[in-house]
Amino acid sequence: MTALLEVSGLARQFRVRRGAWPFGRSATLHAVDGVSFEIEAGRTLGLVGESGCGKSTTARLVLGLTQASRGEVRIGGEKLPPTGSAPWRAMRQRMQMVYQDPLSALDRRVRVGRQVMEPLAIHGIGASGERREKAVAMMEAVGLAPHHFERFPHELSGGQRQRIVLARALIVDPQLLVCDEPISALDVSIQAQVVNLLLDLQARLGLAYLFISHDLRMVRQVSHEVAVMYLGRIVEQGDPDQLFATPAHPYTRALVSAIPVPNRGARRRLVLAGEPPNPVDRPAGCAFHPRCPFAVARCRAEIPELRTLADGRRAACHLVEELPQSWAA
Ligand code: SF4
Repeated sequence: MTALLEVSGLARQFRVRRGAWPFGRSATLHAVDGVSFEIEAGRTLGLVGESGCGKSTTARLVLGLTQASRGEVRIGGEKLPPTGSAPWRAMRQRMQMVYQDPLSALDRRVRVGRQVMEPLAIHGIGASGERREKAVAMMEAVGLAPHHFERFPHELSGGQRQRIVLARALIVDPQLLVCDEPISALDVSIQAQVVNLLLDLQARLGLAYLFISHDLRMVRQVSHEVAVMYLGRIVEQGDPDQLFATPAHPYTRALVSAIPVPNRGARRRLVLAGEPPNPVDRPAGCAFHPRCPFAVARCRAEIPELRTLADGRRAACHLVEELPQSWAA
């Protein structure tokens, strides 16, 4: 089956100034560096990693909201046109974004029903009466009542606002939703409701999701595949059950071992030293080597390729087959 979303070798660099102007010098920040993955219709890829690892930049590159320095994005086999062009605006209808904070994603001065209808006007879909009808139906589809149409965002709860954001994204019948931390601004009691709604919508509409979150347990629950990012690159990718039960890459082991569990048994927790390096000063070789307890001389000199292991997952580590199993989740 051809994947709905195909991302290959996606990269984005930014020129930044190091040191105070006018004495600083310019440097290159590699926010995303050669990321590749695919998502089929009706499936979810979970993208995890620490803050600043490039998850949100990847999301923006996939949608063309940020222009890629290199690499390619294809939706349904069609290459994503240049950002801002008319073909790009037309293709944007097929892929929508769900942001972390629904209140900042909505206009506080505009009634929510109007905001749900707005994408139809932007894409020139339907007449005015039909748009209202479709917006009310879409609001009902995400669990809201017709009387919510005339409310303002501040009159709704956090969960209801995120439902409005979802209705606004779904009203143009997209095929792909890019969800950037869609539940992290919500109360814990509401998070499960929104996740269940996302799962239900996916089952009903066959949507593909790129689901970005730092909540590993939630990612495991919703994803068909998980990719772990570190300093702009994917370091491990595979089946969620396999990846969370027996993480292969040392960075994945550290992330997974930080999830609280009642009984860890004989397995030791892998605690990382220090913060992720500044992406402007990316370490040579494996970027994870300054924090990796298993690093050897080769790790400091040679960048590990993301390669397929015997069990089918992919990992970027020179020593992955030789690492002790006692350091695990
Ligand atoms: Fe650690 Fe070396 Fe593997 Fe990088 S390549 S994760 S430094 S063992």
